[in-house]
Amino acid sequence: MSREWEELRCDVLILGSGGAGLLAALHAYDLEPRLDITVVAKGLVGKSGCTRLVQGGFNAALDPRDSVERHFRDTLAGGQFLNNQDLAWALVSEAPDVIRKLETKVGCFFDRREDGQIHQKAFAGQSFDRTVHRGDLTGIEIVSRLHDQLFARRIRVLDETRAVELIHDRAGHRITGALLLQQQTGAFVLARARVVLLATGGGPRMYTYSAPSLEKTGDGYAMAYRAGCDLIDMEMMQFHPTGLLAGASRLSGMVLEEGLRGAGAWLLNAQGERFMVRYDALRMERATRDLVARASYLEIMAGRGTPAGGVLLDASPLGAEFVARNFPGMVKRCAEVGYDLCAGPVEVIPTAHFHMGGARIDVDCHVPSLPGLLVAGEDAGGVHGANRLGGNGVADSCVFGSRAGRTAARMCAEWSFADPDETEAAQAQREAIAPLARERGESPFQIRDRLQRVMWDHVGLVRDAPGLERALAEIAELEDRAAHVAAPPGARWNLTWQQALDVRSLLTAARLTATAARHRQESRGSHARRDFPDRDDTRWLVNICQARDRTPWTEPVRLNRLTPDDLPTPHAARP
Ligand SMILES: Cc1cc2nc3c(=O)[nH]c(=O)nc-3n(C[C@H](O)[C@H](O)[C@H](O)COP(=O)(O)OP(=O)(O)OC[C@H]3O[C@@H](n4cnc5c(N)ncnc54)[C@H](O)[C@@H]3O)c2cc1C
Repeated sequence: MSREWEELRCDVLILGSGGAGLLAALHAYDLEPRLDITVVAKGLVGKSGCTRLVQGGFNAALDPRDSVERHFRDTLAGGQFLNNQDLAWALVSEAPDVIRKLETKVGCFFDRREDGQIHQKAFAGQSFDRTVHRGDLTGIEIVSRLHDQLFARRIRVLDETRAVELIHDRAGHRITGALLLQQQTGAFVLARARVVLLATGGGPRMYTYSAPSLEKTGDGYAMAYRAGCDLIDMEMMQFHPTGLLAGASRLSGMVLEEGLRGAGAWLLNAQGERFMVRYDALRMERATRDLVARASYLEIMAGRGTPAGGVLLDASPLGAEFVARNFPGMVKRCAEVGYDLCAGPVEVIPTAHFHMGGARIDVDCHVPSLPGLLVAGEDAGGVHGANRLGGNGVADSCVFGSRAGRTAARMCAEWSFADPDETEAAQAQREAIAPLARERGESPFQIRDRLQRVMWDHVGLVRDAPGLERALAEIAELEDRAAHVAAPPGARWNLTWQQALDVRSLLTAARLTATAARHRQESRGSHARRDFPDRDDTRWLVNICQARDRTPWTEPVRLNRLTPDDLPTPHAARP
């Protein structure tokens, strides 16, 4: 049995350096500066993940005419009551304080109005304009300043190091570390910690068109699942309505931000119609993402899409000067693939964007089923229910990252180190290096491409039982093939090997998504079933839960603050 690894010991091990990971590190350190904290990122710390890609901004009820209660109602209406209401309440009630701290303690500058107050723009599904932003590249501002703060503290950083497996203690009772792989050298590290935070940011990259950063491949879901964590709401996959459609360019699938529709840009089909009038004549392009994405898809499927298979986003009604001034990042992105966003329509397609599902957590980010493990950000489920509102994603990672950091510091005062189960680590290492050891085998890239097609065709914007059965059968076949992939020899920067590990995670996340989608026999939020086109609160106001070695089960959503009767039923673009 192979057991070659370096050892690392720290109090708090943070996997992921997006908003959640960075804020957790800073909060844990500031509460207890003597803690030994390590931040591990598969990409570069401060350069990787989706928080840096955030364009539109961060929702927080700051204006005296707005309120936390209103933000809460919008979040539940958007999530169609599948949200864990305690998590959603923590999100909206702490978001304003996080924004103030990002400005006053971290050093971020957000756009301001002429009267000096923070400017807040319109996003879809909001009853008040509450999205705080820095132009249309808000994430760069947040992550760059957080990164500066990280380096002002004694916090260890491991760049380009991927977590491969969460490791239990010898008794199997708690998580006590993780097996890490340094991609540059191919060396393994067994990290042991009092507390481990999983904040790898999900990553729905198992679809033909997707928006997340390239290194995000659902590793967190896969590791959590293998370790015995409960996952909820995995069927809830958000498609952003306006992914750029640009042929084979790597920019295809990248998002054109929601603020464009918020400001009044139009969505047109190939016949030049503002098709949203058919689906939500009241809110039009400012309807929630699930609805707008599905409407675009239905237009394309009805043969009213462009020859390349998209629809059109037209910002020209806003005026060229307004677009250039307010959306310079988007203008530049479009120009890179030959479009002039100020002057006329740009071809767009719904793109897989954000997974509402994830590890089941409580408000302090504990995983009830796995002591020793905290989860925050996109790896966690329950905050957003069936559909996340634009602007609530970065708020989620910052609010719950901060909470996780405080929880971790408190836990370190009580928890001692436990010896990791080295047999488990050795098994994980053996499985990870298996593709390198094989002389012959299929390329993992072929499997990834096939998986993306299967998910796009059958587990995408509109689903049905035959398609989901077919997807699950294909995923099972791809899992068999993935168990025999080969990578060329040499562990240093071996991209084929890394891809093999990515594909393993993508397949697990895909299976969890398709299984939950088959289970939910109704349409709600981002999950639309052609064979069950209506929302059914009588049977399906439940979370679908999955865990290793168990068949999926359901648990009723606790309606402890608001019930569906308290809010008008939202529109639904029937599949
Ligand atoms: C293009 C785009 C635009 C967006 N715009 C907005 C917006 O305007 N407003 C909004 O609210 N939300 C937006 N979102 C969503 C938002 O970015 C996410 O909700 C949020 O940033 C997730 O934060 P996180 O900390 O969970 O993960 P991330 O910020 O994605 O960070 C994940 C980290 O984990 C690391 N990692 C991944 N796998 C591993 C592994 N195996 N081991 C170790 N490290 C690993 C990554 O390298 C990265 O450092 C946008 C998303 C995208 C893709």
